[in-house]
Amino acid sequence: MKQLQYSFVVPIYNEEANIPELSRRLSSVMEDLGGAAEVVFVDDGSRDRSLSLLRQLHAQDSRFCYLSLARNFGHQIAVTAGLNFSRGEAVIVMDADLQDPPELVLDMAKQWQQGYEVVYAQRTQRRRESWLKRLLAYTFYRVLRNLADVEIPTDTGDFCLMDRQVVNLLNSMPERDRYIRGLRAWVGFRQTAIRFERDPRFAGEEKYTFRKSLALGINGLVSFSRVPLRLSTYLGLMAAAIALLMMLLVLYWRFFPSNSPLTGYTAIIIAILFLGAVQLISIGILGEYIGRIYEEVKGRPLYTLAEIKGFQPTSVQVPEHHRPDR
Ligand code: UDP
Ligand code: MG
Repeated sequence: MKQLQYSFVVPIYNEEANIPELSRRLSSVMEDLGGAAEVVFVDDGSRDRSLSLLRQLHAQDSRFCYLSLARNFGHQIAVTAGLNFSRGEAVIVMDADLQDPPELVLDMAKQWQQGYEVVYAQRTQRRRESWLKRLLAYTFYRVLRNLADVEIPTDTGDFCLMDRQVVNLLNSMPERDRYIRGLRAWVGFRQTAIRFERDPRFAGEEKYTFRKSLALGINGLVSFSRVPLRLSTYLGLMAAAIALLMMLLVLYWRFFPSNSPLTGYTAIIIAILFLGAVQLISIGILGEYIGRIYEEVKGRPLYTLAEIKGFQPTSVQVPEHHRPDR
C-alpha cells in the first residue's frame, strides 16, 4: 500500500442524516489534499441507520473504513478508538455534523507541511447556539485556563490535525479519562491555531446534552488540575477563622452581656450547617479524584469492538481483547 498521508477520524453517534453530505465533502477535500488519505469512521453504538450507511460507503470506496464500538462509549472514547486505528502521517479529528468544516483541513495541512505538529481549530463565533451554552462554554474555558497545569487554549474543541508522533504519544497514554483537547496540549511540540466560525449543525440533533457537557468539563478540570483538592483546605481554613471569631465574640458577650441576635440556637444551627456544607463539599471533591483512581486501577479496556472494516489485522496493533476483522 502507498504511504498514507492523511487519516480523518470521525466519531458517529446517530448521524444518519449527516453521513451522505459529510462523505461527499470529505471525498472532495481528499481530492484537493493530494496524497493518499483514509477516513476512519467510529460508530459509537448508533441506534439509527448510521452503521449500515458506513458499510455501504466502505463497499463503494475502500478509503472509507470504519470501526463499530459494541455500545455507546461517548465521544472522547470514540475518538480515542479512531486514533488507535488511524494510519496516516497526519491525523485529523472532526465531528460528523459538519460543524467542523472539512475544507478547513486544507489550511491545516499547509501549516502541518510547514512544520507544526499540532494544528487546532479555534472558534471565533458559535452561530445559533443558545446564549446559555455560549456563556457557560466561555466561562468554563477561562476557569480551566487558570487552573490547569498545562496551557489549554481557550475555545478549542477536538477539531484538529495532529502529526503521527503526537498521535502515537496519545495512543501510548493509558488513562481512561480522556480529555483529548487537554492531552493534545499536554504533549507539547509546535502547535498553532486556525481560527474559524463554527457553523450550526448540518442535520440531526445535538448529542451533547447539558449533562454530558458538564461531565466533560469536570473531567477536564479534574484531569488537569489539583486546585479543587486545595479548595477543601481553603474552605477548612476559612471555617476555622470564622470559628475563632465566634469564640472571641462569645467571650466578649460573656463579660459584656448584650441582646445580640447572634446568641441562641440560630447561631448554633448556622454554624452546624456551614460546617456540614464545608465537609460535604470537601468529601465530594475527594470523591471525584478517588473515583478516578478506582476507574484507572480496574484497568478495563477503554472500549469493546463489534466490527472493523478496512484494516488488515497486520497493519495496526490491534489490542489483544479486540476481535479480528470479520
Ligand atoms: N458523538 C459520539 N458519541 C456520543 C456523543 C457524540 O460519537 O456519545 C459524536 C457525534 O456523532 C458528533 C460528535 O461526537 O460527531 C460531536 O457531537 P455533537 O455535535 O452532539 O456535540 P457538539 O457539537 O455540541 O460539541
Ligand atoms: Mg456538533
